[in-house]
Amino acid sequence: MIVEIVSTGTELLLGEILDSNAQFLSTRLNELGFSVLYRTTVGDNHERMASVLKTALQRADIVITTGGLGPTQGDITKEVTAKIFDLPMVLDEASLEHINQFFAKRDICMPTSNKKQAEFALGAEIIPNNFGTAPGMSIKQADKMIINLPGPPAELQGIFEEQVVPYLFKNFGYQGIIYSKTLKMFGMGESSVANSLEKIISTQDNPTIAIYARNSDVLVRLTAKAQDEQHAQNLLEQTEQQVRACLGEFIYGVNAEELQAVVAQELLTKQQTISLAESCTGGLVTAMLTEIPGCSNFLKGSIVCYSNESKIRELQVEPISLQTHGAVSEQVAKQMAIGVRKLMQTDIGVGITGIAGPDGGSDLKPVGLVYVAIATENKVVCQRYIFTGSRNVVRHRVAKTALMNVFKIIKHKEF
Ligand code: AMP
Ligand code: MG
Repeated sequence: MIVEIVSTGTELLLGEILDSNAQFLSTRLNELGFSVLYRTTVGDNHERMASVLKTALQRADIVITTGGLGPTQGDITKEVTAKIFDLPMVLDEASLEHINQFFAKRDICMPTSNKKQAEFALGAEIIPNNFGTAPGMSIKQADKMIINLPGPPAELQGIFEEQVVPYLFKNFGYQGIIYSKTLKMFGMGESSVANSLEKIISTQDNPTIAIYARNSDVLVRLTAKAQDEQHAQNLLEQTEQQVRACLGEFIYGVNAEELQAVVAQELLTKQQTISLAESCTGGLVTAMLTEIPGCSNFLKGSIVCYSNESKIRELQVEPISLQTHGAVSEQVAKQMAIGVRKLMQTDIGVGITGIAGPDGGSDLKPVGLVYVAIATENKVVCQRYIFTGSRNVVRHRVAKTALMNVFKIIKHKEF
C-alpha cells in the first residue's frame, strides 16, 4: 500500500515549527509495512491544498493529512477534503457532545467556534480523538482513502496508535513488517563504502541498503520487509553477512552501540587493562572511555603530556628521539605508548601525538599529521595518519581512530 503524508499549515512553510508529525507518521507507517513514497507540505489555502490532495490521490492508495482540524478560520483540511469528493459538511451530534464534555470536564464553556470540529463530510467515518477536541475523519472512494488527523503532536500520536493503526489493518489487512539494522563503521569514507557495496546494493532490493555518514562514522542501514519477524531477521542476517564479508574490519557495532562502549566491553571480556598517553587529543580518548560506567575496571590512568619535558619525565621518552625525530613522530608515539603502559602497569598502552592545527604544520609535518601507537606485552605498533578538518574535527577523528585500533587489537587478540 502506497501512502502519501500531507502536512498542512502555513507555519510549517514559514519554518516556524518542525514537521515532526511527518517524521512520526513515516516511522510508524514503515514499521507497519506501509510504503510511504511521498510527503508534501501545503499551507492553509483552499486551492493549493485541494490541488495537493488531488495529486496525492493519483499516486498513493492512502493519503494521511495532519493539521488543520482546529476551530479557527484557517483550519480547513476537512472542508477541502470534503470538497474534492463533492461531499457536503454535516454536523455530527455525538462528536459535538464529546467536545462539549471535553470542555465541561475542565469546567469551561465550549466556545462556539469549536462546533466546527464536530462537522464532517457526509458519509465519512469519524475517527474519535480521546487526546483533544478535534476528531479525525476518513473518506474512502473507489480504492482511495484520505484520512484527516489533528496537528498537535500528542493528539496525532495518540489518535494514530489508538484509532488509526487498527483502522488501517481493518481496511487494508496486515502489511507484514519492516525491520532495520544499522551497521556502524569507522575508518572508511562514505563514498568508498558505497563503492565497496555497489554490487550487493545493485543486485538486491530486500533488504534495501542505505549508507550515510554521521560523526565521522559511516552507517550502513539494512531494511528488510517480510511477512513476519523471523523472515525479516533471516533476510537481514544474510545481507549483514555479505556486508561483513566485504567490510567487516571497519564495523565496530550495530544500531545504537557507541565505539567507546564496544571497546570497553572487549577490554572487560578479554580482561585487558589500558592506559593512555595523550598529546594532541588532550585526554579526549580517556574522557570517552570514562563515559562507560565501571571504567576503572579496565582504565588504570592516563597522562596528558604536551611539553617535551613531560614526555621525558613522565613517560621516559628519550631526549635524543625528541631531538632527532621531533615530538610528532613514530619513535616518540611508540615510546609514549611503552612508557605509559609501564608507568600504569597495564596490558595495553596507547601513545598519541600529532598536530591538530590550525597552525604548527610544515611541509614535512603538515597539520593533521598524527601517530597512534599501541604497546602490548609482545609488541608495539604505530600507524601514521593525515586527517583533515578543523582542530576539533581532527581531534575527534584521532580519538576515534585510537579507539578503533585498540578495538581491532583486542578483538583479534593481537597482544
Ligand atoms: P493545527 O491543527 O494545524 O492548527 O495545528 C495545531 C498545532 O499543532 C500547531 O500550532 C503546531 O504546534 C502543531 N502542529 C501542526 N502540524 C504539525 C506538524 N506537522 N508537526 C508538528 N507539529 C505540528
Ligand atoms: Mg493550522
